[in-house]
Amino acid sequence: MTAPWRPCSVGDMMKDIDTPALVVDLDSLESNINKMSKIVEENYPNVKIRPHCKTHKCPNIAHMQMNSGAVGFCCQTITETDALVNAGINDIFISNQIIGLRKIRRVVGLAKIANISLCVDDADNVRDIDTVAGDLGIKMDVVVEVHVGAYRCGVNPGEPVAELAQLITELPNVNFKGLHCYQGRNQHQRKEGDRKKEVENVVALVKQSLEALSKRGIPCEYITGGGTGSFKYEASSTTFTEIQPGSYVFMDVDYGKNLNTDGSFYNEFKNSLYVLSTVQSKGTNPNRVVVDAGMKALSVDSGVPLLKDFPSITYNIGGDEHGVLTKMVDGEQMPKEIDELKVGDIIRLIPGHCDPTVNMHDWIIGLRGDKVECIWPVAGRGPGV
Ligand code: PLP
Ligand code: MN
Repeated sequence: MTAPWRPCSVGDMMKDIDTPALVVDLDSLESNINKMSKIVEENYPNVKIRPHCKTHKCPNIAHMQMNSGAVGFCCQTITETDALVNAGINDIFISNQIIGLRKIRRVVGLAKIANISLCVDDADNVRDIDTVAGDLGIKMDVVVEVHVGAYRCGVNPGEPVAELAQLITELPNVNFKGLHCYQGRNQHQRKEGDRKKEVENVVALVKQSLEALSKRGIPCEYITGGGTGSFKYEASSTTFTEIQPGSYVFMDVDYGKNLNTDGSFYNEFKNSLYVLSTVQSKGTNPNRVVVDAGMKALSVDSGVPLLKDFPSITYNIGGDEHGVLTKMVDGEQMPKEIDELKVGDIIRLIPGHCDPTVNMHDWIIGLRGDKVECIWPVAGRGPGV
């Protein structure tokens, strides 16, 4: 396989980057990373930050977060875990079930060289991990995932949690580390009050599970969960010991729609991630400008991107390789900014959803102002292997 094409060189200006390309504004990225550390240090000093790698899949950014006080990382896939271990990051919680002996052998193998914990919600899967860990001569830390309202993975709170934890304590090659309690659906509830209330529900379910554990005499000092939309509530709960925010490093259009209590937009963290796209055609229709970033360059599962520099222009999906810029609202005149755009111009698109957008790109290009300062591989890219 030939190496992926590099769309620019360090020292190039933004206008010289081949598009579509994924870029990060380094000043905003650094500000977001420092802000998260500051909020947690100042307000929740007993809570640790274990950021999620799924957002950037990029060891360079992971190191920036580690340098800013993160205790380690969450990964969702083995490919992400490989990328971070290869880059020397030594404390990783895989916050997703690893199923089948083949995959389990890969992660237990990694656990021989790095501190890795696994997420479980199934007794047979726990037995498989125990067997492989025994074969490889190590003891694996496992964390029980609790279903706290996201209707995805996890055992039900209370007794089922204690039952699985009990099995773990009885097996020789696995160690019960604690509980994974992530309520993913809560992150994008628009109203801050709703997100806060939902975390209260989550905490009640965690407490119910802790009581069931305590009745069996099983100690539990590790509770992890929470994302960019809700982390303050998990962090202030006095129940969670760790938070797992991911998107705060980049933000996206969808997160930009979350609201604060006073109804203002949640803008504690800045948009730092853009897809650069070139105007490739204006055709002869004055109401249409075609750019070269379509569904292969931008994830549209949470809505279309916004134009950073032309907020009155709408991006419409134009297919796999195209976006079509048009007027904002039917019946209105084309915003006059669109006339300013010429074939060959580059625009910055704020992705609708940052994580799957990053996964489409080989490189994250770091910009300081308009200048390329670094080009980072998205080393943990992949569909989820
Ligand atoms: N933890 C888990 C288990 C996740 O699946 C995710 C994202 O989907 C996160 C943390 C990070 O959430 P966010 O990107 O909303 O900060
Ligand atoms: Mn996401």
